[in-house]
Amino acid sequence: MPPSTAPRPAVAQCARPPAATTSRAVVDLAAVAHNGRRLAQVAGVPWMAVVKADAYGHGLGPVALTALSAGASWLGVAQLAEALTLRALLDEAGVSRPAGESASQAPRLLTWLLPVMEPDRAAAEDSPLRAALAADLDLSVSTLPQLEALSAAARAQGRVARLHLKVDTGMSRGGATVEELPALAAALRRAEDEGTVDVVGLWSHLSRADEPASGSTEEHLERYRQAEQVVLAAGLNPPTHHLAATGGLLWHPQARMDLVRAGIGLYGLSPDPSVATGAELGLRPAMRLESPLVQVKRIEAGQAVSYGGTWSAPTDRWVGLVPLGYSDGIPRAASSAGPVGVGSLMTSIVGRVCMDQVVIDLGPAVDETGAPLPAPARVGETAVLWGAPEVSDQEAVPTADEWAQACGTINYEIVTRLGARVPRCYIGEPGTGDYSRP
Ligand SMILES: *Cc1c(COP(=O)(O)O)cnc(C)c1O
Repeated sequence: MPPSTAPRPAVAQCARPPAATTSRAVVDLAAVAHNGRRLAQVAGVPWMAVVKADAYGHGLGPVALTALSAGASWLGVAQLAEALTLRALLDEAGVSRPAGESASQAPRLLTWLLPVMEPDRAAAEDSPLRAALAADLDLSVSTLPQLEALSAAARAQGRVARLHLKVDTGMSRGGATVEELPALAAALRRAEDEGTVDVVGLWSHLSRADEPASGSTEEHLERYRQAEQVVLAAGLNPPTHHLAATGGLLWHPQARMDLVRAGIGLYGLSPDPSVATGAELGLRPAMRLESPLVQVKRIEAGQAVSYGGTWSAPTDRWVGLVPLGYSDGIPRAASSAGPVGVGSLMTSIVGRVCMDQVVIDLGPAVDETGAPLPAPARVGETAVLWGAPEVSDQEAVPTADEWAQACGTINYEIVTRLGARVPRCYIGEPGTGDYSRP
């Protein structure tokens, strides 16, 4: 989608041959593009790449441009600040805006958590809502006070606010409730007449899309249809309807409507591996977290490891030091649990996760006869915390799903929490269709 003449923001390519002298997250843009196309093929409708939270930890700019080149016609983020950053990145890459001549070709940017403010603040020169309008964003609205602020900003900015009316269809998170909707829809209609807003979307979010048998999604759809009637009766006629994130897209065809919002699937992970794994869905994990062993040592049987001595070596043991900790987003819940691959050895963290480092078990230092065993790994060798499961017997690669299981959480949290301190590097150039591996 970005014009080929435009300058592209430089992204840090992964060094070749892979030489992890420090920890790094290797993001495979070919996998991102593949996943986008795969989800688009299943959905059969236009798709939004959800790139909130720094593209689930993968890096906003490279992922957004890759998603556009893979056919995404929308980009979605949660917060206004993220949307403004994204607009600046797209401008820099020469991606056209949904205004002016190339408007119909331009990708749209939706953001759904706006700052709260009084109308006079919203109309002020430095108002974040005026910045949102100047950035040609699509904005979500759920309440009357939000609409008042948006209308004030639109009047002051001399722009029409493109709004997506969010309704609560059963999640009880954001969105107008059934009781609030008639008054909000009527006010939106008046604002349309006044020329301050254009209601371009009706939308909601599913709470249990990963439980296909629960009947929950059918209830959401029923409430959505009721809301649609209210909205039509108020004289609004939003052209775009959207309800499904990755789970809805995959498992609830009726929820696909005019647009699907793909987050986790774009990164190659399943919304719920107990329903179907990423591999079963034809997706490829895009992130690989690796770190060099910075020390390898032998410890004696009974020796306790890390703070609190919660794990002790069952035999004389080789252990390795990996320079990643909870400040980097390694959950402390991974203490003596998080899986780690070193070469063909699949092992795990032993003892507590520290702020900046963890210790991993490298196996026994003596055999059954008490004869010494050599260290199975050397300093500088790469430890892989998570990535695409490797099928070869040369390499053991744990998955984000296995990490989620080990830590009592979900794969979303594993990748998204990866700290800003861990450098990201990329395989492939964003937005060029060149996704060759080094
Ligand atoms: C995060 C989010 C998505 C994407 O969800 P996935 O399950 O990651 O696909 C879609 N819509 C909304 C409103 C979201 O907050």
